[in-house]
Amino acid sequence: MSAPRIALGGVVRTWDGAERTGLNAAYLHSICAVGGVPVVLSPLIGPAYAARALDGMDGLVLTGGGDVDPAWYGSDPSPRADPPNRERDLFELALFAAARQRELPILGICRGIQLMNVALGGTLYQDLPSERPGVVDHNRPGARTDRSHAIRLALGSLAAEALGNSDLRVNSFHHQGIRDLAPGLVPTGWSEDDLIEAVEGAKGQPWMLGVQWHPEEMHADARAPERGLFRALVEQALSAAASVDS
Ligand code: MN
Repeated sequence: MSAPRIALGGVVRTWDGAERTGLNAAYLHSICAVGGVPVVLSPLIGPAYAARALDGMDGLVLTGGGDVDPAWYGSDPSPRADPPNRERDLFELALFAAARQRELPILGICRGIQLMNVALGGTLYQDLPSERPGVVDHNRPGARTDRSHAIRLALGSLAAEALGNSDLRVNSFHHQGIRDLAPGLVPTGWSEDDLIEAVEGAKGQPWMLGVQWHPEEMHADARAPERGLFRALVEQALSAAASVDS
């Protein structure tokens, strides 16, 4: 088998006067660049058919976007949080649960790492500047590829291995972050103000990696270390598919 099928959570937006569904093309470029076949799954499918939508998929990417509804982790909404999007939350929570049940490799990006944490019982800062002021601006205006803050990664972690480095600068545009880490997740990356920037599943669990920055935006640079994250996902998807075939 080659070219594993990688499911990605999509978005619903209105533009040109119609409701449409899709995804930032950077995610698709990132998967194509490492030999995967990206398949965008729309929240319009609904949570009841999330598992069906994953049939034939070999991996899952939980993508970036608006804030996860704080009701899922038992907090009242901050006035600075995005309006809740129940449709997207419910669909992605169902995708995540189904992917875990099938032991598919999972990569969570920005909102994706936050959704993983909430799904597994953790909580979030709803607005970093007001709830956790620090020396690092995690949402600095600029190009989406600007490497605006440093992170350090645990040696030997999935993220460090995939990126080929344990110290790097990353792009950053998020105003939320992990507060209480969920049981079952291991922190493996931190910014200089000690916010969690990378997590992985516990040892012996199926491959699961989350990052708080946006590796997909680096897709045009073949030498960017971020390509290694997508390569690792596709390699895991290949071996997961092979073990099902055999
Ligand atoms: Mn950051």
